[in-house]
Amino acid sequence: MNDIASRVSTLSNQIRQASLRSGRAADSVQLLAVSKTRSVSEVEQAFAAGCHRFGESYVQDALPKIAAFAGREGIEWHFIGPIQSNKTKSIAEHFDWVHSIDRLKIAQRLSEQRPPNLAPLNICIQVNITGEETKSGISSDQVLPLAQQIVMLPNIRLRGLMTVPKNADSMTQTYQTFIELRELMNTLNKQNFQLDTLSMGMTHDMDVAIQAGSTIVRVGTGIFGPR
Ligand SMILES: *Cc1c(COP(=O)(O)O)cnc(C)c1O
Repeated sequence: MNDIASRVSTLSNQIRQASLRSGRAADSVQLLAVSKTRSVSEVEQAFAAGCHRFGESYVQDALPKIAAFAGREGIEWHFIGPIQSNKTKSIAEHFDWVHSIDRLKIAQRLSEQRPPNLAPLNICIQVNITGEETKSGISSDQVLPLAQQIVMLPNIRLRGLMTVPKNADSMTQTYQTFIELRELMNTLNKQNFQLDTLSMGMTHDMDVAIQAGSTIVRVGTGIFGPR
């Protein structure tokens, strides 16, 4: 086995174990392989090892990779980076998911530009739970009004919420951030939203994210090694 294949295998076990320890089904958490800055050949190795979902943060860097895997059965591309207006068309045409929605205008453009022959684009709203000024995402109290407008858009489908916790936080604080995101989703679902996705947890905080209810963990270095 190569390094990528053995890391994918170890990680998949770690995810199953963390799920079972939290009283959840072994297959309740999906692994998103964050392939930003990685080559086609590295993505190929991860795909061969069983990863079918890939996360990208830079549109220009992602498009050649997406083209290289065109027609590959079951592959999914998730956009997880900040979005400029002039990039929405490429994202709407080439991705299956966007985790980093924090403005209505971007959601509207994605809905308008989604090609009619494709399924609706799956969307998560990015929430800045800890209120860091430098961080993307909206504050918790802006989520409900944005969600109410997003669900009216025809060609995108609101699936859930995403967050990136504060880097400097302890694991206990990080866990608390993840719990707050879960509670926010529960609050929305009490108001008749049907959200099923919590995109939270990366290489170093995956276990506490799963404990707090994550359904997609976004792992880069844990699969591909240091960037
Ligand atoms: C890069 C990135 C990741 C992956 O981080 P690792 O520490 O390499 O696992 C996850 N989420 C987002 C939003 C990222 O930009």
